[in-house]
Amino acid sequence: MTRPPGAERVVDRAGRGEWTEPGAFEVAPGVHRLPLPLPMDGLRAVNVYVIETDDGLVLIDGGWAIPESRTIFDASLKQLGYTVRDIRRFLVTHMHRDHYTQASVVGREVGAHVALGLGDKATMELMHSDALDEDPNMDRLRAAGAEELAEGWRAMMPSRPPSMDDYGMPDEWLDRDLVIDIGSRRLGAVSTPGHTQGHYVFADEEASLLFAGDHVLSTITPSIGFEPAYVQQPLRDYLASLAKVRAMPDLKLLPAHGPVTESSHTRVDELVAHHDVRLEQSLRAVDSGARTAWEAAGELPWTRRERHRDELGPFDGVLAAFETLAHLELLALQGKVSRIAGATVRFEPLRPA
Ligand SMILES: [Zn+2]
Repeated sequence: MTRPPGAERVVDRAGRGEWTEPGAFEVAPGVHRLPLPLPMDGLRAVNVYVIETDDGLVLIDGGWAIPESRTIFDASLKQLGYTVRDIRRFLVTHMHRDHYTQASVVGREVGAHVALGLGDKATMELMHSDALDEDPNMDRLRAAGAEELAEGWRAMMPSRPPSMDDYGMPDEWLDRDLVIDIGSRRLGAVSTPGHTQGHYVFADEEASLLFAGDHVLSTITPSIGFEPAYVQQPLRDYLASLAKVRAMPDLKLLPAHGPVTESSHTRVDELVAHHDVRLEQSLRAVDSGARTAWEAAGELPWTRRERHRDELGPFDGVLAAFETLAHLELLALQGKVSRIAGATVRFEPLRPA
């Protein structure tokens, strides 16, 4: 589309500490990064990417539908000479509220088309059903042997958001891998389950860009399987999705959180190495006597500062429990530990044959 007169084009040079600074930053010709605030969230901001096309704007993700975010969203679009009414389409990487809700709200407001991965449908339907009155995360906390976290979690997280208005169903469910033509660009929509079951990344190989959502983040390790619908092997799915992205050309990495970096391959390799180490550490925890995911989590270092499990706040504690459960479930699938099913899943070293 022709560039609006008087619009500002600022090249993105944000590094590690600067990427949350609001504005519109050009990452490639016609592609802009808009960091939007997440005031109550440790991630601090989410990157929404604006792609200019001959018939309007296509957005990758929409941010979290809260007033602070909307104000900055409108101001950042204005800096480019646009308003929300120029948006034709939202391609949302996954259903987490910091990516999906503002796409849903603005999409309805301006008549833009909203697409989301089919794998997230189970979770979306669960959120819209009465079944959610019992928080499904409780079953997983029990499976991880971390019921002691339940009270802190309930106090922090209402099982149902105060309003489901922000979580309208999308106009389209993306199914398997497909090519989406937007103006003169071709975007590969690549199904990458793991972070959530419906996660997608979008690749513009001609421009050498990977819109990676939360599948590949530049500075932190994405959480895995953090979704109301129960998934037994989120880590297996996630590692398969990393291998899928590694098999694509090496692209500029445009993550949903963190600064843009030059190589998707480099970061995928680091994430794979991270999980190799965690699998090894989880195996050793079982060898040295841990029987539940929560016990094993007590043997592992957490966060970049290598904290102990008990130093984590309630939210991070729950993530640690789920993360360790995912690693142990994969070790069981690989035949490296035995798994004893039950409301709390127990793991034991393999008995020598
Ligand atoms: Zn997410």
